[in-house]
Amino acid sequence: MERDEASTFAGRSLQVENARAPDRRYDCLDDAARLARRYLDGLRDRPVHAKTGLDELRAVLAHPLTDEGEDPSVIVESLACDVDPGLVASGGPRYFGFVIGGAVPAAVAADWLVSAWDQNGGGFVASPALSVVEEVAATWIRELLGVPASSGVGFVTGGQMANFTCLAAARHAVLRDAGWDVEAHGLHGAPRVRVLAGEYAHVTIGVACRLLGLGQLVDVVPADDQGRMRADALRDALAGGTGDPTIVCAQAGEINTGAFDPFVDIARICREHRAWLHVDGAFGLWAAASPRRRTLLAGAEQAHSWATDGHKWLNVPYDCGIAVVADPRAHRAAMTSTQAYVPAHADDVPYGFDWTPEFSRRARGVTVYAALRQLGRQGLTDLVDRCCDHARLIARRLAAEPGIDILNDVVLNQVLVRFGDDDALTDTVIEQVQRDGVCWLAGSTFRGRRVMRISVVGWQTTPADAHRSAEAILTAARAAGG
Ligand SMILES: *Cc1c(COP(=O)(O)O)cnc(C)c1O
Repeated sequence: MERDEASTFAGRSLQVENARAPDRRYDCLDDAARLARRYLDGLRDRPVHAKTGLDELRAVLAHPLTDEGEDPSVIVESLACDVDPGLVASGGPRYFGFVIGGAVPAAVAADWLVSAWDQNGGGFVASPALSVVEEVAATWIRELLGVPASSGVGFVTGGQMANFTCLAAARHAVLRDAGWDVEAHGLHGAPRVRVLAGEYAHVTIGVACRLLGLGQLVDVVPADDQGRMRADALRDALAGGTGDPTIVCAQAGEINTGAFDPFVDIARICREHRAWLHVDGAFGLWAAASPRRRTLLAGAEQAHSWATDGHKWLNVPYDCGIAVVADPRAHRAAMTSTQAYVPAHADDVPYGFDWTPEFSRRARGVTVYAALRQLGRQGLTDLVDRCCDHARLIARRLAAEPGIDILNDVVLNQVLVRFGDDDALTDTVIEQVQRDGVCWLAGSTFRGRRVMRISVVGWQTTPADAHRSAEAILTAARAAGG
């Protein structure tokens, strides 16, 4: 193609856009709002599973890329239509797979505005307003999670990056205390950092260590039958320690059972060994919002860092994670990215890039701000308690049926179910429930046995949804001959 021919093509669709009456340029936003309403209003009644598979989706979505571009409203309409059969109703009231929350309305709407404003949330100079919104959200988060008011808070993409950010701060601090500046010199020639985590630590802890040059976890601390790190095993692992800089990763909310590590004992042991204590509480940390369940976190307040998710239990849309570090200097030293072309700023002026791995970034804290304003303190408490109560209700209904066993203590929002004490039967029931579409849940393997894994983290679930889902599971189990 000739050069001026190419530039004509590139210019044409923009010319078409610019030729529109200025007040019609964003009509596609009205289309998006209408289509989003239709989807969200239908969430409760559509089958929970996706209706279509890989090949069909590829065929439908592979529109030819045009030379001249397309009309925004046409794109929005066709995108919504094409993807609809491949969407999973994970924001609806009967989705219990993995740990995937819904999204409260104010957070969804605020997220749209974040896109419309298209601010670079990296720092105050680029977006004064959203930097302050995130600052306010950070203050609320510290208060709700019961961590020191001076803690650093970074809004990141999820639990993975929250763990990464916290462990980067940990790496900085334990090496600083050993006389080594890891930010300046990296790990070449550094003292060895010892990382310990429970046998049932989430996989993202290992990935974070890998990204931080600490290698996959070396020291696995045995867990008990609920997946809780055993404090006595941690004590043994650290006894006769080499004095290496040490980081201990504990967990609030084991991904299968929802169990909490014994933080009081773990914190004491870490103190004795001058180890950094990190708590991965991607969903479990939200127990702090519930007076009835807060005791599960006793001792966790003594940790040095905490990772949690916004997109799980707080019910903000994907993606949002939150990294909290008690020592803001270590947090900032590990993350900040000062550049000559960014104005120097006082410590108390909000700059997202001081607390997150990103430089340019979406102001993810805005959805947290909106969700917390919608819920209020009591609404958040109710959300957490309601999900836990629904989990117990489902567990109770299933446990009453002969041949069905609940394998975990349902202390939170997670239920592990086994059918006929049989792997194959358990998988058959899971597949049947998934196909059936009343609710959706996934399988897992816990302590060598196949289990159905139920996770209740959505704001929309009602007691009637819990009953209906339990009924669907019982029906599938009876059909499978359980
Ligand atoms: C979900 C989860 C993570 C990972 O969080 P993402 O938001 O998926 O990155 C880490 N730890 C625990 C305990 C989790 O449940």
